[in-house]
Amino acid sequence: MSDSGNPMCPLYISGKWRGIAGKTGSPVFNPSRGSVIASVPMCGPEEVNEAVASAKAAFPAWRDTPPNERAQVLFRVKILLEDAFEELCLGIATEHGKTLSEARGDLRRGIEVVEFACGIPTLLMGESLENIARGIDCHTDRHPLGVVAGICPFNFPALVPMWMWPIAIACGNTFLLKPSEKVPLTMQRVVGLLEKAGLPPGVMNIVHGGRECVDAILEHPDVKAISFVGSTPVAREIHRKGTLHGKRVQAAGGAKNFIILMPDADVDRTVEAVKDGAFGCAGERCMAGSTAVAVGDAGKRLLPALADLVKSMKVGPTDVRESQPDMGAVISAEHKARVSGLIDAGEHGGAKVLADGRGTKVADAPEGFFLGPTLIDEVEETNPLMATEVFGPVLAVMRAKTLVEAIASANRQAFGNGAAIFTNSGKAAREFRRNVSAGMVGINVGVPAPLAYFPFTGWNDSFFGDLHIQGKEGVEFYTQRKTTTTRWFSFGDGEIWAK
Ligand code: NAD
Repeated sequence: MSDSGNPMCPLYISGKWRGIAGKTGSPVFNPSRGSVIASVPMCGPEEVNEAVASAKAAFPAWRDTPPNERAQVLFRVKILLEDAFEELCLGIATEHGKTLSEARGDLRRGIEVVEFACGIPTLLMGESLENIARGIDCHTDRHPLGVVAGICPFNFPALVPMWMWPIAIACGNTFLLKPSEKVPLTMQRVVGLLEKAGLPPGVMNIVHGGRECVDAILEHPDVKAISFVGSTPVAREIHRKGTLHGKRVQAAGGAKNFIILMPDADVDRTVEAVKDGAFGCAGERCMAGSTAVAVGDAGKRLLPALADLVKSMKVGPTDVRESQPDMGAVISAEHKARVSGLIDAGEHGGAKVLADGRGTKVADAPEGFFLGPTLIDEVEETNPLMATEVFGPVLAVMRAKTLVEAIASANRQAFGNGAAIFTNSGKAAREFRRNVSAGMVGINVGVPAPLAYFPFTGWNDSFFGDLHIQGKEGVEFYTQRKTTTTRWFSFGDGEIWAK
């Protein structure tokens, strides 16, 4: 228990859950109610050292566990996750504020990574070439790195950590997880299932905290690789510090994803997809379509219907299974104030608010961190709203005369996670796909987030590192190759059988 009487999240080290005495806790909220539901201890080097030692001790036996046996644990985890699915999703909705259906998407995509990881033995296979010189053979095989760590953001309590640990442990590594201090409860429950599935003690470990904890992970000599997902300034710093300390680092950062609306786009389906892309998970998605560029008379054709749809969205609490809104709360009171401030700044900068989410009140949850969906038009590139990632339920609309102009606007901003085009023209789609400077592209798809079998290929300031998260790049990241060249001396025909 913390001082406030809320349960303090335990650490998970060497297969044991335990609390830590004398640490201050950071509150975990239920954003739908604005109430504190738990607290997380702010760990430092002492706890990190202990967790890394646990992972290091577990590594030799886990590395030597045959890949198919490691995969068997993940098959059991998958079954346990399916059994607990609805309960876990309600937990995600409660600690994050997203709707139950969005929570189901969050966990479902995470389970898909577990399914991918069940098949990893095939991807661990090496390559060989016999007789590279007379009597000499050569082969490469993959080896795990050792202790690897994952540091996660708040917006996908299930999916983001599950981008990391299933692949890492299937490859034979042992893992140290630092969930977001804002949403630590989902992974606590999931790791309970790993334990039940028979994962040996020490293969998975959890510590909690913020910067001090992360710094201790980055500086620890026994941590071989870091997977990070979060905002761009932190991602850039994690990559810098982690590589300075000799680690492999994949660091995914923030985003500002442009959605190009062409005049020939299908009105109803485009408007629905753009609404979902911008306001799904209250815009707290690194793949949110947060900036639309209407080309030619696309604005005239699409915006009235989009504004009507946005204004009809129901906002409310998501922690009650029976009554679900279209959109939930944002993560915290501070974040709500930040996003409202950005809308103010956008308006003062000359943009026109078509649907205004500021001041949204929810009668049955008056303390919740609610901000209604906001549609803001005639945003210029110099508007303050364009200077940063908003990460809230705000869709900014810009205008462009041509597709070339729209692509140029998209390419002038610093990020490069996702981008999408809505059109019926194959030529326009091809032009866009080839020229937009973003790593994940949608053609009539608003949120082109790749499935587990593909890498999550952010570009520019949306990613720092070489090997992306997920898919075969994930396997590459969590393994190192060994190349062996073999020669057996022989002294003439029949020698082998002579004795
Ligand atoms: P954040 O950067 O504030 O925090 C992410 C993690 O870093 C947390 O675990 C936090 O404790 C830790 N952290 C925060 N400040 C730190 C510091 N100074 N030093 C060391 N560690 C620090 O991000 P957030 O607000 O939790 O998540 C939202 C961000 O994540 C958005 O920018 C979003 O676009 C991004 N995101 C990106 C992707 C992607 O794939 N590119 C996916 C999901 C989220």
